[in-house]
Amino acid sequence: MGNALPQLRDLDVRGKRVLLRADFNVPFDKSTGTISDDSRIRATLPTLEHLIHSEARVVVISHLGRPKGAVNPAYSLEPVAAYLANLLPTGEVAFGESCLGESAQVVLDHLRPGSVALLENLRFFPGEEANDAAFAQELRAFGDIYVNDAFGAVHRAHASVHALPKLFRERAAGFLLEKELSSLKRLRDEPPRPFVAILGGAKVSDKVEVIEALLERVDALLIGGAMANTFLAAQGLSMGKSLVESTKVALARTLMERAQKRGVKLLLPVDVVVATSIDAAAGTVVEASEVGAEQMALDIGPATAKSYLAAMQGAKAVFWNGPMGLFESAPFAAGTMAVAEGLAELDTFSVVGGGDSAAAIAQAGLTERMAHVSTGGGAALELIEGKRLPGIDALTGER
Ligand code: ADP
Ligand code: MG
Repeated sequence: MGNALPQLRDLDVRGKRVLLRADFNVPFDKSTGTISDDSRIRATLPTLEHLIHSEARVVVISHLGRPKGAVNPAYSLEPVAAYLANLLPTGEVAFGESCLGESAQVVLDHLRPGSVALLENLRFFPGEEANDAAFAQELRAFGDIYVNDAFGAVHRAHASVHALPKLFRERAAGFLLEKELSSLKRLRDEPPRPFVAILGGAKVSDKVEVIEALLERVDALLIGGAMANTFLAAQGLSMGKSLVESTKVALARTLMERAQKRGVKLLLPVDVVVATSIDAAAGTVVEASEVGAEQMALDIGPATAKSYLAAMQGAKAVFWNGPMGLFESAPFAAGTMAVAEGLAELDTFSVVGGGDSAAAIAQAGLTERMAHVSTGGGAALELIEGKRLPGIDALTGER
């Protein structure tokens, strides 16, 4: 099953410069300019604290947003450095105004054992996304040891996660990356049974491969969110103005047939919350077969939530990806919150993947009540689908 993943705890980092690839790609509140969800920063703390206590000189690199290879202050990591400083026992993070060159070098020259520096956004240079060898070589000069804790980036063959680690003899996965992989691989390779998956979110088209992969493994598949609309349309229901992917209706039908053949229980909403606009102040609960021509289904209804919770009872493993409705808007958040609360109550191996799903769980204050909430949306799905992850292959030395 491939080479073993090198472990951080096996490395002697004392006094060494550790180049730590973190995923500090956090969302900002547009009106206040403050970090609106710090989950990814907090999830990296165990690795950072270990490195600090081990007297490493820690050089953190990350990307933020999509500045497309050019310097853009709107995507600066400087606010993250300030935020991180408040979370660290040292209370201090030096900031390098570029991830390359003199301004990075100066910061690193002054870095004492047990202290942390963060360099500016990797994606300010086109070499990062191009997996450029020369760009990786320049970063190589800043560390003696490479550690990757950026699970959210391991599905990308970008320089800091793919070309760079191969240049180090001493390299390892950080504690977050290790936990992400062990939790998600357990679901992929040896899920405790019964295994129930809950899928929702915006589109069937985003999730076809994960649905197909899960159909091979789960005992039940519960579908909600806008994705459910396409499945309901495939059953011949009229969905009014709801988000329906008309080009995926036939595929939805095929997936339902496959579920039936495999003996997988596939549940669709029996009731939905409808409104005539996504800005509506309130929604109305109707049966799934009663969506009016001018209405859109924006959440699962209470009867559906109840039946989904019932279907989860007794499950030994639950994987959840994709909100049950337009949860960002209070009138359409109840379905997602009911599923989150129900899942938190269960004594089960509960794993949540997906950026918006993780945000919904955080909004409900339930992150700690799950066995694992993944910090990587795309990476978590690709792992469940059974795809190779370039950042992991580079660490193990396979590709
Ligand atoms: P994740 O990031 O967890 O993988 P997705 O990105 O697939 O999830 O989907 C999340 C988005 O889907 C959210 O913005 C949510 O508002 C939207 N959504 C969910 N259900 C509906 C619905 N019924 N109608 C419109 N949008 C929906
Ligand atoms: Mg999303």
